[in-house]
Order: sequence, then structure tokens, then C-alpha cells
Amino acid sequence: MIKNLFYSLLIIILITLGFLTVKSGSYSAFIEFAENKTFDIRQELKAQNNKKPSNIVIIAIDDASYEYILDKYGEWPLRRDIYAKMIDYLEAQSPKSIAFDLMFVKSMKSNLSADKALSDSFKKYNNIYTAMNLDNQEEDLRNAINLPKSLSVSVKGAFNPIEYTNCRTILDDILNSTSNIGMINVVRSDDGVLRKMPLFLKYKDKFYPQLGLKVALGAMDALNQTNFTLKNRTLELPNGEKIYVDNDGSVILNWYGGAGTFENIPMYKVLNAMEGKGKLENFENKIIYVGATASSLFDIKTVPTAKVFPGVEVQATYVKNLLDGSVIKKTPFGINILIDIAIILATIAAVVLIPSMPVALGVIAALYGVYIFASYELMACANLWIEIVSPLSLGTLAFIFAVITKYLIKSRDFDKQYKLATTDGLTELFNHRYFQEQLRMNVEHSKRYNTEFSLIIIDIDFFKKFNDNYGHQSGDAVLKQISSTLKQNVRATDIVCRYGGEEISIILPNTGSEEAIKIAQKLCNIVANKKLKLANNKESNVTISLGVSTYSETDGLTPEEIISSADKRLYRAKENGRNRVNG
Ligand code: GH3
Ligand code: MG
Ligand code: MG
Repeated sequence: MIKNLFYSLLIIILITLGFLTVKSGSYSAFIEFAENKTFDIRQELKAQNNKKPSNIVIIAIDDASYEYILDKYGEWPLRRDIYAKMIDYLEAQSPKSIAFDLMFVKSMKSNLSADKALSDSFKKYNNIYTAMNLDNQEEDLRNAINLPKSLSVSVKGAFNPIEYTNCRTILDDILNSTSNIGMINVVRSDDGVLRKMPLFLKYKDKFYPQLGLKVALGAMDALNQTNFTLKNRTLELPNGEKIYVDNDGSVILNWYGGAGTFENIPMYKVLNAMEGKGKLENFENKIIYVGATASSLFDIKTVPTAKVFPGVEVQATYVKNLLDGSVIKKTPFGINILIDIAIILATIAAVVLIPSMPVALGVIAALYGVYIFASYELMACANLWIEIVSPLSLGTLAFIFAVITKYLIKSRDFDKQYKLATTDGLTELFNHRYFQEQLRMNVEHSKRYNTEFSLIIIDIDFFKKFNDNYGHQSGDAVLKQISSTLKQNVRATDIVCRYGGEEISIILPNTGSEEAIKIAQKLCNIVANKKLKLANNKESNVTISLGVSTYSETDGLTPEEIISSADKRLYRAKENGRNRVNG
């Protein structure tokens, strides 16, 4: 009982240790890495069944367009008046918005009128968006300026915002002519994969929204919203969608597929159409994202569904996620712990309750399989990210501990069974069967190695009378005390057995006749002088008679002959007056 408690306690301690190891320390980085990989696999599988999102079109500055622009205008970046003309061309088709995933940094002194043409476009249309970037550059490169008030927003609620100390500004004229400017900073996991996008970034104690958030708000006709509140990791958007926000103010993106998920139109086709070559009628009511996909322009990211994924498609994914409210939601910490515990308990229950280990293993594997399948379905159908690595690794640890414990308990049971089968209940000496077995083994051993061993058979004197005088209970008590006295006074290698009734036999391995008789005599004296407690708390003495035989030509070379010799000598000892040894 106490041992069971001990083992249970041991298991609980080991599991707690495992739990703490997994949940903290350097293991947590590994667990997070592995969990992210399972996320990527789930996303990749799910994305295979996704349809192309429809209401976003990308005008891609792809490799062909880059070559076209260099040929035609002889320079990159593209002159800004060309962008202005493109805006006019696209606006004629009434798009929902045009967002540039491009930064119009620094003016080209040679072409100030081209810059002016673009900033005029921003004034002319209220649905044009452009990007800016915050960074942590030292002030010896450039000064960290104050951004226009109209760009910042207020955010309430508990989260650890991503902060920057500097920024790379865009043309003053654009910066001051529109508030449709958002940041395009991204968040990468430790393994370099982009899984999240921030909603708000902190700079000079103010919050600035991400470009995609602005574009999404614009599409919801809610551009004037400048106050945001995060409640329980949730931000409610003007269209009623509640989106899950991670602790750094980011949303976890839900991917639609690999590169090319969105409708891509190469920019050179748009430039051609603007000159009347070919016709493009794809833009009505669409959100148009203009950005680079050309490998030479280096705006390439690694995302869960693709190693090479253009930044502009990341932006488009982000906007689409916000509009659909389909960003990924993580289960809260409390639920994660409950899942961990449930998996651990189910694993232990399977090991404990199922007798066959292969069957238990099969059941646990099936359970984990179902769990993994459910985690995939929850992500595919409910955009929910439940942890896989933490619960299943804890479950595996629990499995190992449970199996070890079960084995320990089983082997302890085996010891118990073995003891029951070889000992006598009353005297706790070895039983008759064990005696016969050991006698046979000693005969074999002596035969093979040409050694000796001796046997002493002991019988209590006048025990019938003793029982008659003091009662059977006292007889039992005395038998027990004599047994333990004999055991205490022989060597650890000697085998003391209850031969039957009140007869006790002792096998003395590697012991010759002379030595055995000496030992027998010693035992005879010790018992005769020992005060034995009776059932009624009185004390009394008994004596024993002992017959000694030795494995030899004279006494016998088989178990039967050796027993018979010892028996005869015991009989002789009785005849000669008892309380003595005959050998
Ligand atoms: P002696 O050996 O000296 O000739 O006389 P004895 O009275 O001891 O005779 P014997 O060995 O033939 O008798 C055995 C008695 O031992 C019979 C029985 O009353 C008693 N006895 C045997 N086993 C037990 C036991 O487990 N408990 C008790 N209390 N008595 C036992
Ligand atoms: Mg007897
Ligand atoms: Mg007797």
C-alpha cells in the first residue's frame, strides 16, 4: 500500500518535472520551433483545398516588367509621373483601392515635377495607399523625425507592442498630403519564416497601423477609425469580425496557397494598356496591390506555404485575412494546460487499464492520430491553432513513465508470488518443496565439482506433550521462535526449511561432516538455553534433537539416501535421550 503510494508519487513528480522542462527553459525554444513546423504543415495541407481569393488583384513588377521598364525608360525606379498616369488609368475603372507595396523614398532632384505628379494623385483620389517603414537605425545615419499626427492611432489594451526607434520616411509631399500611409514591417519567427503581421507598431510613444490594416479599413469604409481597443486578445473590426491578436499585437496569417495565389497582372501589361496596346478590364471594385515580385528586386519572403513568396502577396493575404476575419486564433494558456493534462491522463489510463502492451501502444497511437487529425480539422474549419508538440511530447513522457512503473509493479508482484511459493507461512522458513529442490541441486553441484555438503534434520522433543500442556497456540509460537533462532545462528548461505510438522531441515553447502556436527551441537545448545515466550506471556524451554548426514559414500549420494541417513541419526538421538546431536 505504502509502496503503491510511493510509486504514484514518483510518477507525479517525474511528470511534473517533464512538464516544467517542456514548458520552460531551452526546451521551450525547441518546442516552439517544432510547433511552428506543425503549423506550416497544417497550413500547407489546408491551402491545397483553398480557392483563389477573388477581390484582390496584384499588379506585379515581375522580372518581365522590370526588364520592360529598364528598356523603355532607361532607369529603375520607375519615374513617379508614370505611377500617377497609371493611377489615373486604373481609377477610370473604379477600383475599391490602389495600394502601393512600394516606398516612394527620397526625391529625384532631376525630376521634381514627376514626384509632384504622384503626390497630386494622392490628393486627387482618397483611395490610394502607400507604404513606409520603421526601423532601428542609429541616429548618425538619419534623424528620427516626428511623423504627421494624422498617421498615428490610439490603441488600448494589454499587449507588448513591437517598438522602433527610427524610420525611413517617404517624400514629404506625399507624407503631408495623405493619411493613407501604413507601415510594412513584418515579423519573422526564429527560423526566418514569416507567420505573423503586426497590426500596430510603436514609434516615439505613438502607435502606427500597418498598411494592410489601413487598406482593410478603407475597404470597410472605416478609414476614419483611429481608436482601437484590444479586449482578451481580440480586436473587433468595423465589419463586425473579431480577430485574434497575439501578445505582440500581431495577427497570425492564414495562408491561401503558395506564390501566385492572387490574380497577378504583370505591370508591363498595364503600362502597355495605358498606351492603348491591349485592354485590361480587371479592376472594377477590386483592391489593387502594386508590388515587386521580381527576384532581382529582392522583396521575397519565406512563409509556411512557400519558400519563395513575394512580399506583395503577403500584404494581400493579410488584407484578405482581416476582411474575412480568418486570421489564425491560438488557444489560451489555460486550455493548453487542460489539453496537456487530458493527453497525459488518457495515456496513463491506456497503459494502466490495457493489459497487453502492444494493444495499449496501438490505442495510444490511434488516440494521438485522432488528436493530430482533429488539430488539422480545427485549423482548416475554425482557423484554430491547437498545440500538437507540447501535449504529445508530454504524453510520450507520461507513456514512458507509466510503462516503467507498470513494469516495476509487475516485477514486485512476481517477487511476492515467488516468495509465497517457496516459503512456509507460519515459520517464514523455506517450504518442503523448496527444500527438495535445493537438496537436489546441492547433490548435483557436489557431484559435478566433487565437493561436500551436509544436512541437519531437527525434531522438537516431546512436542506433543508441550502442546497438551500449553496449548496449540503456544506450540505455534514456540515453533516460530525456534525457526528464527535457527535461521539467525547459521550462515547466510545455509538453507533453513520447514521439513514438516515440527521438523526443520538445514542444508549446509560446502560443509563437511565434522563441521556440520559442530554447528548442530551449537544449535542444540542455543535452543536448549533459549527462553521461549508462550501465548499467555509465560516463558518455557524446549529442546531439540538433531541428525546430521553428509554427501558421501558412507551417508549417501542421492537426496533420498542423505535424508534417510539424517533421519536415522535423528531417531538415534531421540533414543539416546534427546536434546542431542547424532552425526
Ligand atoms: P518426540 O519427537 O520427542 O519423540 O516427541 P513428540 O511429541 O514431539 O513426537 P512427534 O515428533 O512424533 O510428534 C509431533 C507433534 O508435534 C505432533 C503435533 O502435536 C506437534 N506438531 C506438529 N506440527 C505442529 C505445528 O505446526 N504446531 C503445533 N503447535 N504443533 C505441531
Ligand atoms: Mg516429529
Ligand atoms: Mg517431536
